[in-house]
Amino acid sequence: MPADHFDTVIIGGAVIGSAIAYFLSDNPDYTGTILVVEPDPTYELSSTTLSCASIRHQFSNPVNVELSLFGTEFLADFHNRVEVGGNSPDLCFRDTGYLFLSTDSGWATLEASHRTQTECGADITLMDREQLGHRFPYLAVDDLAGGSIGVAGEGTFDAFALMWGLRQCARRNGAEYATDRAVGLQVEDNRVVSVQLESGRTVGCNHAVNAAGPRSAAIAEMAGIELPVEPRNRSVFVFDAAEPAERNLPMIVDPSGIYVRSEPPHFIAGAPPTDDMAVDPDDLTVVHEEFRDLIWPVLVQRIPSFDRLKVKHSWAGHYAYNTLDQNAIVGPAQPVENLILANGFSGHGLQQAPGVGRAVAEKLTYGEYTSIDLNQLGYARVVAGEPFPESAII
Ligand SMILES: Cc1cc2nc3c(=O)[nH]c(=O)nc-3n(C[C@H](O)[C@H](O)[C@H](O)COP(=O)(O)OP(=O)(O)OC[C@H]3O[C@@H](n4cnc5c(N)ncnc54)[C@H](O)[C@@H]3O)c2cc1C
Repeated sequence: MPADHFDTVIIGGAVIGSAIAYFLSDNPDYTGTILVVEPDPTYELSSTTLSCASIRHQFSNPVNVELSLFGTEFLADFHNRVEVGGNSPDLCFRDTGYLFLSTDSGWATLEASHRTQTECGADITLMDREQLGHRFPYLAVDDLAGGSIGVAGEGTFDAFALMWGLRQCARRNGAEYATDRAVGLQVEDNRVVSVQLESGRTVGCNHAVNAAGPRSAAIAEMAGIELPVEPRNRSVFVFDAAEPAERNLPMIVDPSGIYVRSEPPHFIAGAPPTDDMAVDPDDLTVVHEEFRDLIWPVLVQRIPSFDRLKVKHSWAGHYAYNTLDQNAIVGPAQPVENLILANGFSGHGLQQAPGVGRAVAEKLTYGEYTSIDLNQLGYARVVAGEPFPESAII
């Protein structure tokens, strides 16, 4: 065993890596040591910081609904769970709800998802066109069959605060953070035995966890594991409207895939790109044409009072896009089973961080999931080429 040895080495210390470090270090049954390797302590370029920082319970698959319900539970008790010396970062949670809009062709799917969500305990209201128009008079609803809105627990918050609270508490609990970068994995007999760092340090481990977000395929590759995850650009636009009919918008998801919500005192919007391809992980260029060509035409049609807009600011982040099914890949890799994957979250990893962090900690402590069973999200489906079905993808 090398002198520099940790039981668990977590590669990537943003929201997923820090959630795993938090739940592991918080569990009295886990007695091992933890090292989190993160090259950028400012997190300036991580997906976590560049996200839209929202949580919803409106998924079609029970596992995703349950993960987000736990996310809400965790956020609601955030201060008590992460406070260090009486302090915790302010999450600034706004309980705005998500409003999914549907045309006739998507209605049966929305209804089926609503049944699933309700069975899981989520509080979601389904509305036909008339109810929708009555409740949201600023929306043009003529082409819609209806919509669904989260009644409680869905909304927006400060993503950096979530990550920082988890990190701060994990450190208090004894997890170490190293400002460094994993550049190699040494694998012997299908086990990761050490992690090589850019600084020249070699750290022995019993388990390595891949939490490197959009760069996770490169980490998996170091152990000979193929991961269908690639960085994809998502541009976000902050705008003002001259005379908006409503200032407090929920997160509205149009049938076209375009979304818009309030970001007081402004609004933010984004769209799935028409030409959605892998990009260089260092390329965070905003695709400005998306606002003009994709977003604005839909916005003004859906919310006519958005006819006079001004873009004030914009940014681009990367989805860690799972090309198989746009869902998380969580659990042991095969055949290198002591490499634990927590990757491919695409557009919903922030809200899943508490649930996934807890699940990975359980797997590392007990060898199995003891709360939400994440086996459906495991790597086996990648090997089998069988996508995990989820229709509510943004
Ligand atoms: C525009 C946009 C909007 C989004 N909106 C939402 C939303 O509203 N709700 C939601 O739930 N999700 C949303 N997401 C998705 C969410 O941001 C991600 O799923 C989540 O942040 C993933 O966290 P992560 O820790 O896996 O990845 P990241 O936050 O990217 O962190 C990965 C970390 O790994 C580190 N790293 C990389 N390579 C190495 C290496 N070799 N060695 C060590 N460390 C390394 C990086 O420095 C980085 O800090 C959005 C994403 C984008 C881009």
